[in-house]
Amino acid sequence: MAFLVLGEKFTDLDDLNDRVTEHETEAQQIYIVRNYCTIEKQYPNDTRVNRKLVYSVLQLRCKHGPKSRESQATGLRKSRSLKLNCPAFINFTLSKDRQSLAISSLNLDHNHENFYDTLPEVRRLSEKESRKVARLVNDLGSSKRKIMIEIYENSKKRVTRKDIDNICAI
Ligand SMILES: [Zn+2]
Repeated sequence: MAFLVLGEKFTDLDDLNDRVTEHETEAQQIYIVRNYCTIEKQYPNDTRVNRKLVYSVLQLRCKHGPKSRESQATGLRKSRSLKLNCPAFINFTLSKDRQSLAISSLNLDHNHENFYDTLPEVRRLSEKESRKVARLVNDLGSSKRKIMIEIYENSKKRVTRKDIDNICAI
């Protein structure tokens, strides 16, 4: 089940990230962080709050959503991607017991086509990259999540956890 549902709860930010990545891969859409508040800032002295969540509020928006105010104000760089004012978003808020982040509202209907850069042929790693990933995971025990982020930052390839599992199984 890759579609996210209202009220779905997460007790760990890694699990939340995995689910969002899974959904992004399935739907071939990309969400970016639009707004957030950290637990550190909102509850600095609360010893009961689940700090594995990192955020007390997290708002994700489709990459093709409306521009944030800051980027409109500076206007320095024109984004290469089309801004379509896509209404899709996912909001997470801390539960009353402060032990989980729950989806408090969401809209998964996009007003545009899927993104080509999530297609398997586009996210496929070169042989050299694959060997490096396999070594990092199998020999050095690096976190798969960290590797996924690093690959994305370096090459904009959005590999999934499954892709990494496949690479490491070779
Ligand atoms: Zn969209």
